[in-house]
Amino acid sequence: MTNQEIIDKLLNGEIKLYQVDKEVSAKEATDIRREFLEQEYGIDLSNISNYSLDMERASARNIENSIGVLQLPMGIAGPLKVNGEYCQREVYVPLATSEGALVASVNRGASTITASGGANARVISDIMTRAPAIKCENAVDAIKIKQWFVDNFDELKEIAESTTSHGKLVKIDPILIVGNYVYPRFVYSTGDSMGMNMVTIASEKILDKLASETTATHLALSGNVCVDKKPSSINIVEGRGKSVVADILIPKEIVAKKLKTTAEAIQEVNIAKNLIGSAASGTMAFNAHYANMVAAIFLATGQDAAHVVEGSLGITTAENRNGDLYFSVNLPDLPIATVGGGTSLEVAKEGLNILGVAGSGKAREFAEIVASTVMAGELSLLGALAAGHLARAHQELGRG
Ligand code: NAP
Repeated sequence: MTNQEIIDKLLNGEIKLYQVDKEVSAKEATDIRREFLEQEYGIDLSNISNYSLDMERASARNIENSIGVLQLPMGIAGPLKVNGEYCQREVYVPLATSEGALVASVNRGASTITASGGANARVISDIMTRAPAIKCENAVDAIKIKQWFVDNFDELKEIAESTTSHGKLVKIDPILIVGNYVYPRFVYSTGDSMGMNMVTIASEKILDKLASETTATHLALSGNVCVDKKPSSINIVEGRGKSVVADILIPKEIVAKKLKTTAEAIQEVNIAKNLIGSAASGTMAFNAHYANMVAAIFLATGQDAAHVVEGSLGITTAENRNGDLYFSVNLPDLPIATVGGGTSLEVAKEGLNILGVAGSGKAREFAEIVASTVMAGELSLLGALAAGHLARAHQELGRG
């Protein structure tokens, strides 16, 4: 069949979009589906058609029904000095975004941090979780199933770890009971991968064992206590992905020179906005805009973009210390990887290579860089708000 004959069959509804892959290569199937859309709607999709990545490879691992590639502008912020446990150097951070002013703002924060000696960044914990929903006859049976997980932990660990060379089952905790439902939270370490596929496969094996030894039925591999891709208190308290902190003491003169404001004004804005305003509105994220930096780095480095919702969580603190500014960002729930998933795409590898964190042994170094970048953006925005507040106060004083 020629390409046009396949497109005609798509237009007539004789074949489905995914069936095109059976007729031709992934690259050709991509072109055919895109041309089908162009003909069906009389539109031009020439920009989506321009790409360099290996679609055969991407179709096998990353995408179904491919039609091309999304392009986004990518900018660079830095140098940003990171004084981490794993990263001790200056970095340039790639940021993919369509939000004008974001890169400039992060760049200003990076300049402030670097001039002050660097961001002190540390990974506090490093886990990935899966928590299935299990159904029992009643609450008494549910308590017995909870005990089954406790009693059999060593064997379950062996079973889970038989599926992976990098994944380790660290604990099953908490094991929540709601009526006749049980939610065991399987907590793994997953090396340099984000780990969702890895822990899903390992957890399935544990549930096979549960099915063979008990009458409990597992209803869903994810029972939403994991908690994947949703904001949650349990992830904030227990951590998920990398839990990372970054802090810095910025001398008074640098606050004045780079941020055009004072530590006192930044402290006040942080309390009013990130703490009181967040509490009053019931938001779970006590920060100004972590999601902006997290999203831009995620897109530039092939992370799972849906995890921005988790990376957006965290608390910013700001403290006036005799005119100097103590500032910190805290990200308890940052699922990231330097191996596996979207990080194997060519463009993602280039983004990771700019940071020097592609491949094995680099995920915690990457986490420290992300937290430091988040601090740069957070500092810059709070600085701008505080400077505006100061400027308005001066204007009003001037008028008075
Ligand atoms: P993956 O690419 O499926 O697995 C990572 C692979 O890398 C494993 O095969 C692992 O081998 C190997 N590996 C090599 N060197 C490693 C190292 N240094 N550290 C860790 N692993 C290493 O990716 P994943 O991280 O498990 O899952 C990420 C993907 O899951 C993303 O594409 C994401 O979108 C998707 N996702 C899936 C679900 C789900 O429920 N399944 C949910 C959300 C997202 P070994 O296993 O042999 O160690």
